[in-house]
Parts: sequence; structure tokens; C-alpha cells
Amino acid sequence: MLTVETDADAVEERLRSGGLACPGCAGALTGWGWARARTVRGPDSPVRIAPRRSRCTGCRMTHVLLPVLVLVRRADTAAVIGAALAAKAVGLGHRRIAARLGRPAGTVRGWLRRFAGRVEAVRAVFTRWCRALASDPVLPGPAGSAWADAIAAVTAAARVIATRFSVASRVGEVPVWHAATAVSAGRLLAPGWPAQTGQSGSTRVAPDPG
Ligand SMILES: [Zn+2]
Repeated sequence: MLTVETDADAVEERLRSGGLACPGCAGALTGWGWARARTVRGPDSPVRIAPRRSRCTGCRMTHVLLPVLVLVRRADTAAVIGAALAAKAVGLGHRRIAARLGRPAGTVRGWLRRFAGRVEAVRAVFTRWCRALASDPVLPGPAGSAWADAIAAVTAAARVIATRFSVASRVGEVPVWHAATAVSAGRLLAPGWPAQTGQSGSTRVAPDPG
């Protein structure tokens, strides 16, 4: 799984120009049809996505290109799930978060439980990205809890990514959870992420503001 910006035209251009590399062998990816379309729930309205499928010109493996606005196998957008995770960091419980977001309490509880088991790993991965992408990164200090530390690291990494790829100047606001999706290759809440070895599969591309 590779994550790409939400701008479909930009993705097509990169596929045409050989600007997307195979995560397996670093060969150039070309367009190879589309994955099954699905509808995810956005903050305000449903969002229909039809992820592009690609094939490597080297090893011929196919790879689905997941837009950064969604996480793997989640029915809500990364922005919605991220809002829930951020709300938990400031002390809200799952029922209040669910009410605020208009989602079932059980769904929100599921996100929080999954994230709870990886807060330290999330903090470590996103802190590593800050250091990798910025020569003199401003790393967040203690935020009051392990959970808040993880969210602070995600936010800091998003800022570094936005600065590095000049996204902030275009949108005025850092698309934090798109950056989180890009860094985790869509697997922020997926089983087995982060792997011990780190960042395979994620793309070093600016998350599009969408
Ligand atoms: Zn390949």
C-alpha cells in the first residue's frame, strides 16, 4: 500500500512521468486500473473514493494508491478519526467524542482502544520523521500524558512535512491527519503498524490538503 495526495490529476501526472516509485524495488509505477470504489464518512458528508491501482515496470507487482484522506479499512476519513484522537488527548471520553462527531460510541471506542495500544510507538515514529525531514526540528516537550505526547508528535511531524513541501503556504492550515496517513501509509490504526523496522510503504510526498 502506498499513500498519495488526494489530487487525482497530480497522481496521474506522477504515474505518467515515472514520479512514483515501487516500494519493493524502486522501479517506476504506471497506472493499472482502479481499485474498488468505496464511500467513507467525512466530517460533514460522505466522500467517494476510487483508489488508483498501479503496476511496477520493474517487478510487475501491483500497488493500490491510497489517497491520504483515508486510513486502511476504516469507514471514516482520517480527519474524523484524528479529531477523535485529538479530543481524547484533551481529556474527553469516547461518548462525548462520539456525540460531538456524530458517530456511534462503539466506533469511537474502537479507534481509541486501538490507538491506546500504540501511543508510545506513534510518538517515536513521528518524532523520527521530524528529525529525518528537518535539519533543526522543533520537537514538542511533554504534553501531560503519553496520549497527548503522541498527538503532539503527529502535529509536529505534519508541520515539518508541510514546511518541507511548502504545503502550508497554499492551504494556511497544516493538514495534520493527512500527514499522519502519509507517514503511516494509511495504517495508523491497522494491526501490525508500526513495524519494528519503521517506515516501509509510506511515501515521502506532500499530503494534499484535499
Ligand atoms: Zn517493483
